[in-house]
Amino acid sequence: MHIREPGKITDRVEYLGDWHSCLYLLRGKEAMIIGGGMSWVAPSLEKQLDSLHFDSARIRYLFIAHSHFDHCGAIPYLKRRFPKAQVLASAYAQKVLANPKVVEYIATRNEELIARLGLQGEQRRLKAQFDGIQVEHVVDEGETLDLGEGIEAHVLAVPGHSQCALAVYVPALKALFPTDAAPFPNEDGRRISYPSPQYDFSLYKASLKKLASLDVDLCAFEHHGVFKGAEAAKILSRGLKKTEDFEKNVLAHSRNEKELQRFIKKTAAQVLASKSFSFQNRERQEGIIDTVVKKILGSQASGVQ
Ligand SMILES: [Zn+2]
Repeated sequence: MHIREPGKITDRVEYLGDWHSCLYLLRGKEAMIIGGGMSWVAPSLEKQLDSLHFDSARIRYLFIAHSHFDHCGAIPYLKRRFPKAQVLASAYAQKVLANPKVVEYIATRNEELIARLGLQGEQRRLKAQFDGIQVEHVVDEGETLDLGEGIEAHVLAVPGHSQCALAVYVPALKALFPTDAAPFPNEDGRRISYPSPQYDFSLYKASLKKLASLDVDLCAFEHHGVFKGAEAAKILSRGLKKTEDFEKNVLAHSRNEKELQRFIKKTAAQVLASKSFSFQNRERQEGIIDTVVKKILGSQASGVQ
């Protein structure tokens, strides 16, 4: 089952935010919010969190799974709303988010979307502007965040999409929060997105294989919803197949530079055409595909598979 609309997923997991930018409330005795979304989802978060009638003092952690602008944009809003919750991320994300240039870039990208959606008033009302993040506690592979009532969130290092990426796995629920370390469903929900090894392709594949080997009943993406039941495990093996097919496709088009450039433009156009609401323009989308293609070809050149 593919769940598109935010709402209750299980007694322990609430899907928050929006189909394009999903966050999750994971509840034990204490709770954590997984994913940092974008600042434009703050009005949705406000309504959803109000309607939960949930004691906000229980929210102990805000978990940033990776530091890209579309995965931490709502953290300043959440931190202002839940000042006692501790912001968690990897050591590399902490370093990245301490860089004023990165903060300015993340703020600009979030502001662009706020302006495009005409949400400037809402942003002011909710104090949802992106003005930086202080990562208060660094987490890494092997750590467990015990939320009580049997809900333990295991932290997995899943570098490849970014250097700083972490996933969360909750054995008691067989629930995985893979962030962008696995290809997520396309907007139509039927197909699956291209792999996005923007940092390192070999690591991306290794991380994806690690996730695909888990016993998963629930797979909650930060873009385009949640898979439950048999489809949850399947979406990860489909992602791995899509990744291997894309790698072959890149290699087949890498005979000469002109052909490769045509392939990059065509792929970027396909990605944009599949979306009704994209965070990227054509130039940026082509830049992303160009990076991904270079990472794939680079991993071949270095002989690391
Ligand atoms: Zn990302």
